[in-house]
Amino acid sequence: MKIGVYPGTFDPVTQGHTDIIGRSLRVFDRVIVAVALNPSKRPLFDLAERVEMVKLVTKNLAHVEVEAFDGLLVEYLRQHTAHAVIRGLRAIADFEYELQMALINRKLDNNFETVFLMPSEEYSYLTSSIIKEVGGLGGSLKDFVHPEVADRLRQRLRRPSA
Ligand code: ADP
Repeated sequence: MKIGVYPGTFDPVTQGHTDIIGRSLRVFDRVIVAVALNPSKRPLFDLAERVEMVKLVTKNLAHVEVEAFDGLLVEYLRQHTAHAVIRGLRAIADFEYELQMALINRKLDNNFETVFLMPSEEYSYLTSSIIKEVGGLGGSLKDFVHPEVADRLRQRLRRPSA
């Protein structure tokens, strides 16, 4: 039974994240999406909302669980008897940061691997930040996020004068 943990901020979850979750199920028997508190990123949505949205977009996927997470990732992996961290790689720009995280986690605990998955090309330019920017300017979000996530984003980003 191979268990993978997919950690991230998911502020909010995008089709790119969902694509990675789907692909990870080809490699792992069980996938735990660990939604990180991450206060340093000053998320637009609070932790409970982010967890709720990831649960919504994964509700039809068997063998996926979604949990809030705060703390040291390797500790979380140990507690969940997981085997690997799952991360998505969009472009070369992601590589340096991801390499640093993978190597520091390995230094902290050599029992886990980090597995990188590439999204479908159509999602390779998607980030939660760009979606918040497009949504804030009133652009269509339908190709990027689940419709319910798009509604929540629009509500949250609605400018007082709009
Ligand atoms: P973090 O704050 O941990 O980077 P994110 O929610 O931004 O959290 O991303 C979580 C993981 O998902 C990261 O590995 C990130 O590279 C990956 N990811 C985000 N968007 C995409 C996408 N469009 N395609 C593939 N991977 C993605």
